[in-house]
Amino acid sequence: MTDTHADKIIDGKAFAEALRVRIGADVTRLKDEHGLTSGLAVVLVGDAPASQIYVRNKGKAAAEAGITATDHRLDTSTSQDALVALVEQLNADPAVHGILVQLPVPDQIDPNAVIDAIAPGKDVDGFHVINTGRLATGQMTGPDAAMVPCTPLGCRMLLEDRLGDLSGLNAVVLGRSNIVGKPMAALLTQASCTVTVAHSRTKDLAEVCRGADILVAAVGRPQMVQGDWIKPGAAIIDVGINRIAVPTDDYPNKTRLVGDVDFDAAVAVAGAITPVPGGVGPMTIACLLANTVTAACRQNGIEPPSW
Ligand code: NAP
Repeated sequence: MTDTHADKIIDGKAFAEALRVRIGADVTRLKDEHGLTSGLAVVLVGDAPASQIYVRNKGKAAAEAGITATDHRLDTSTSQDALVALVEQLNADPAVHGILVQLPVPDQIDPNAVIDAIAPGKDVDGFHVINTGRLATGQMTGPDAAMVPCTPLGCRMLLEDRLGDLSGLNAVVLGRSNIVGKPMAALLTQASCTVTVAHSRTKDLAEVCRGADILVAAVGRPQMVQGDWIKPGAAIIDVGINRIAVPTDDYPNKTRLVGDVDFDAAVAVAGAITPVPGGVGPMTIACLLANTVTAACRQNGIEPPSW
């Protein structure tokens, strides 16, 4: 990347750090003014290394913001009934405002059964069907408002920070997963974008992408989106996190993280773009903290901060 492109970079890391400081200040204010300490319970079943890192990072970020984070580590052989029983216990605990069950869970457990068991108001991942429905129907304010999945929430914040009003813009969401693509499309629809959701069956994907003022890539295919798929000046949000091999003579096992977008080609054409790493990733954790504080406020009849 040349310096001439520096102003195109959407610095999610810096934005997330500033957001976490604001969240920390709100957590302190809630303690001082309402005697309310926001609480997040993080549940991990098994010992998958990646999940352990995610859980540790989430707990650390929560603690740094002044949120009480409680860790629940369960054995890999834990039954679905035992996990649901723990979730129900956390549902009933007034000190716990947010519950996160780290996915994936072991094969003997149906993840949907576990997500269904989380009280919708404590579902800080925003995966419960009640929250999905509230998001789809635009129920975004009041005590029963949607909890919005963290990654798309963070993407919308970055887009609004960079572009301001999104209304009327053509948005293409590449990917239709329940955790990223679909909620992202719902948020952009609410922001009055004209939204196209593209996926593995989409015909002439490149041409569809070329119509996008906003392109959100959430596919999980390293560097799939090419420079000539991008409309000049478009805003590109790269959600993908892919590890690719970049062996050298000295380090034959060397790897690096890349997104779903060919960054070097895209940055020359786009008006704004998130890097990988340092773009969307840090926003996901910051939005988890934001959701926890929002949940704590709603459960205590307090107007949540606007982020
Ligand atoms: P997912 O559940 O695997 O969904 C991938 C989507 O991409 C599917 O809708 C699939 O289409 C579509 N797709 C796959 N190959 C395609 C192709 N060749 N052309 C067009 N569409 C294609 O993935 P996800 O959970 O949404 O995650 C997507 C990426 O984001 C991954 O790299 C993941 O690691 C990353 N991620 C990052 C964060 C973060 O915090 N930054 C959070 C979550 C996920 P079909 O539906 O037709 O199969």
